Amino acid sequence: AGNGRFIVGGNWKCNGTRASVKTLIEELNAGELRDVDVVVAPPFLFLDEATETLKAPYEVAAQNCWVEPGLVDPTHHYDSDTGAFTGEVSAEMLEDLRIPWVILGHSERRNLFNESNEFVGKKVAHARFHGLSVIVCVGETLEERESGKTMDVIFAQLKAVATEIDDKEHSSWGSQVVIAYEPIWAIGTGKVATPEQVQDVHAKIRQWLADNVSEEVAKATRIQYGGSVNAGNCSELARLSDIDGFLVGGASLKGDDFVKICNTSA
Ligand code: PEP
Repeated sequence: AGNGRFIVGGNWKCNGTRASVKTLIEELNAGELRDVDVVVAPPFLFLDEATETLKAPYEVAAQNCWVEPGLVDPTHHYDSDTGAFTGEVSAEMLEDLRIPWVILGHSERRNLFNESNEFVGKKVAHARFHGLSVIVCVGETLEERESGKTMDVIFAQLKAVATEIDDKEHSSWGSQVVIAYEPIWAIGTGKVATPEQVQDVHAKIRQWLADNVSEEVAKATRIQYGGSVNAGNCSELARLSDIDGFLVGGASLKGDDFVKICNTSA
């Protein structure tokens, strides 16, 4: 375990029906959580249900949000410059619904929806501006790892975030920005990174933060590992000195397994 309070995220991705979400929430509520922060990210349509029915200490995250001002109340703030982003959900709306967290820069957003480093950086700064806590995902492809580019890729992803946060007034790292290191080759593949690979990247991310942001931020920033984490492999990873939590995809859809993963830190 690292420096900060352990934090586990559950990314439900584009999964679930009204009925399955209800069951999963019941399973989560029935689990006993130790001293840990837990953030679950249902699809937008189920955010309200999750907010209403998940008990503390569970908190809720959106899986994405838009980067430009979006209309919150069209009857009071009609402005033709805002809101013309069909299909998007704005940070303002998440703030309005008191959704405390948002996941940004997931590799599926970067790769399937062509979100660039700069775009993700802008989103992070915009979400922070609206007071949202952010889990920002970084990570390399297998090809990038094999050609020795892992840290170049990750540092470029981090730099785009750091630049935008610096440039945007009233926006900051605080302890509300969590970094999720998710090697793309380990996501949904059952191929978990080795403890050595995880510790190596996490320590380098922390050093980058110390060198490029501040010592304070490097200490306060929690770094999660994500990529095929399950109830069987989480304990070994949780012991690593620079790991502050997990971001879990597949296994977060099974209530019992997810609760086990959340409790690994203790
Ligand atoms: C993810 O998508 O963030 C993830 C880590 O997925 P999985 O746990 O299924 O590999």
